[in-house]
Amino acid sequence: MMKTPFVTKAQIEEIVKTYPTPFHIYDEKGIRENARKLKQAFAWNKGYKEYFAVKATPNPTILKILKEEGCGTDCSSYTELLMSEKMGITGSDIMFSSNDTPAEEFVLAKKLGANINLDDYTHVQFLKDTCGVPETVFCRYNPGGTFSISTTIMDNPGDAKYGMTKEQLFKAYTELRDAGAKKFGLHSFLASNTVTNDYYPTLAKILFEVAVELKEKTGIKLSYINLSGGVGIPYTPDKEGNDILKIGEGVHKVFDEVLVPAGLGDISLFTELGRFMLAPYGHLVTKAIHEKHIYKEYIGVDACAVNLMRPAMYGAYHHITVLGKENAPCDHTYDVTGSLCENNDKFAIDRKLPKIDMGDYLVIHDTGAHGFAMGYNYNGKLKSAELLLCEDGSIKQIRRAETPEDYFATLDGFWDVEV
Ligand SMILES: *Cc1c(COP(=O)(O)O)cnc(C)c1O
Repeated sequence: MMKTPFVTKAQIEEIVKTYPTPFHIYDEKGIRENARKLKQAFAWNKGYKEYFAVKATPNPTILKILKEEGCGTDCSSYTELLMSEKMGITGSDIMFSSNDTPAEEFVLAKKLGANINLDDYTHVQFLKDTCGVPETVFCRYNPGGTFSISTTIMDNPGDAKYGMTKEQLFKAYTELRDAGAKKFGLHSFLASNTVTNDYYPTLAKILFEVAVELKEKTGIKLSYINLSGGVGIPYTPDKEGNDILKIGEGVHKVFDEVLVPAGLGDISLFTELGRFMLAPYGHLVTKAIHEKHIYKEYIGVDACAVNLMRPAMYGAYHHITVLGKENAPCDHTYDVTGSLCENNDKFAIDRKLPKIDMGDYLVIHDTGAHGFAMGYNYNGKLKSAELLLCEDGSIKQIRRAETPEDYFATLDGFWDVEV
C-alpha cells in the first residue's frame, strides 16, 4: 500500500509561516473515522469500550476528540491520571493499567473511581494497605512461555515483567472478593504492534477460557475482559493493514464459542489501543538543512531522535515522503539524520528517496503514537510543537514548542546566578 501524507507541500508551506519545523501534526478526520470503525467492529458486544492508551499520545486535545467518539482513557501514571481528570474523563471511563505502581498513584486512581488493574498478586495486599479494595477491580494475566499464532511466535510473555500466573490470578480474585470487591475484570497484553487479524481473536480465546475456568473453580463471574493494546499498523508500505471489522468478527466468533455456552455471554469487552488509534494519523514534519557527502550520502534534517525515538531505540522503520516529490523516482540512497551526538540518530538508513534539495520538507509517517510522547531532552534539544489539522482544514496548535526557558525551569534561580 502506498503511503500518502495527509498534508500537501502547499499546506506545509503555509503552516511553517506560523509554526516553524520540526513539528508533529495530527489528522482529526482520520482519528475520528478510525475510532468510529473500531466502535462499529465491536458494536455486537454490549458494554464494549475503548480506553485510549494515553502514553501513546498524551495531549489533552487528542483525549477530547477521542472522548467525543466514546473512548475512555488507559492511564499508567500520576500525570496521565491528572490529564484524564482535567479532560473530564473520570470514574469507570478510566482504566488504570500500571505496573510497579507507586502508592500515591493507586490513591489517585481510587479517588477518581478508575478501574484499577492489578499487575501482580502482591498488589492485592498493597492496595488494601494504601487505599482499600474498590468495588470493581481488574487483574492482569501473564500465561508465560511464548505466544504464538498458529506456528508463528509473536512474543515471549515468559520474559515479560507484566502480569501474574494463573495460580496467582485465581488467588488474587478470591482474596479481592473476600475483601469486598463485587465486579471483576481480566486483562492481558501478549504481543505488540501485531499486523494480523488473528491477534485479538487468539488472545481473546485464551482469556475467555480463563474466565470459564475461574467461574468453575471459584464461582467468580467476570464482568469485563480487557484485550488491551497491541493491534498494530503497517509501518512499511509493503504490508497490508489490519482490518478492524474482521478482527471484531473474529473475537465475536470466539465469544460465542467459549463464553456464551458457559453462561458468561454478558461480559463486556474493553480495548486499550494506542498505536492503532493514532499512529497513522500523525506526521513528524521536518526540513532538510544539510547534505553531506563522505563515505555515504547524508541528509541532515531539523528534527532529531528527541522528536521521534523509535528508529534510534528499536531500529524502527518510518516511511518518509519528500513533499512535492511524491511521484519523483527514488533514485538516491540516503541516511537521513538528526543532530544528536549519537550515531543512532538516524530516521532512515540507506533509504531510497528522490533527490533531496536543501529546504525540502520531509514527512515522517506514522508518528501519531509513541512519537512525540517518547520525547526527551538529550543534548539540550527541545521538544517540538504539536499541531492539529482540524476537520474543517484549519490548523490549531495543541501544544507549543519548548523554549530554553522551559528547559531551565527546573533549575531554581538559574537565570539569576552571577558568574
Ligand atoms: C502501551 C500499552 C497499551 C497500548 O499499546 P499499543 O501497542 O499502543 O496499542 C495498552 N495497555 C497497556 C497496559 C500498555 O502498556
